[in-house]
Amino acid sequence: MDIPRIFNISESAHRIHNPFTPEKLATLGAVLRLRPGTRVLDLGSGSGEMLCTWARDYGITGVGIDMSQLFTEQAKHRAQELAVADRVQFIHNDAAGYIAKEKVGVAACLGATWIGGGVAGTIELLVKSLLPGGIILIGEPYWLQLPSTEDIAKGCLAHSISDFLMLPDLVASFGDLGYDVVEMVLADQEGWDRYEAAKWLTMHRWLEANPNDDLAKEVREKLTLDPKRYAAYTRQYLGWGVFALMPR
Ligand code: SAH
Repeated sequence: MDIPRIFNISESAHRIHNPFTPEKLATLGAVLRLRPGTRVLDLGSGSGEMLCTWARDYGITGVGIDMSQLFTEQAKHRAQELAVADRVQFIHNDAAGYIAKEKVGVAACLGATWIGGGVAGTIELLVKSLLPGGIILIGEPYWLQLPSTEDIAKGCLAHSISDFLMLPDLVASFGDLGYDVVEMVLADQEGWDRYEAAKWLTMHRWLEANPNDDLAKEVREKLTLDPKRYAAYTRQYLGWGVFALMPR
């Protein structure tokens, strides 16, 4: 079981697989006022940077589930490196339907809400693992400006304009589901650049090392087209943020 190989190639050197910088991730941990010993569940935990740095900086414990074998291995390695391997656990698995055995103070899904079939379904899944008074974290894109055509949405690698909302509508949608938005930390263009542009050097080096790989043609095409596509579309049109929610 694994995610499509293109992601394991293009994001192999990423610690954070979303448009957050290390500073934004630390800010998010700080604004949540985490108490030492708080249990955190992370569905789609990637290379584990959130759980590992929060265990180091804020004394949380955590469980992360991710379908990428490579990212899960990197997460375990990072936990060793930061000397928090006794406090965080990483499981290589499909996180769909995952409910924590021991309920948690923070239940998160950052940049992987397809795990629950969309934002509403993911909130519904996460709340099943949540202690009373706990916080849900949802990391999700939103439109900075509404694309005027479907082609622009496709340039942002969305299937259609309806994939995402504008920020005010996204924030209001959490209220409609019965949740207070109690905090939010939003990515900026520097964070987007770090997330997207870091893939280009990784892909270039991968192509040098793997010229005859089955995926070489696809990676070549992506590397040729992505810088312009990103600069023209994603960078201009897409925002990304993490929203902290508590049931009303
Ligand atoms: N939250 C992490 C990773 C976000 S990228 C971070 O912010 O760094 C999306 C992640 O979801 C990838 O790591 C991918 O491997 C994982 N993923 C995709 N489908 C999944 C599934 N069904 N179950 C668990 N993880 C999944």
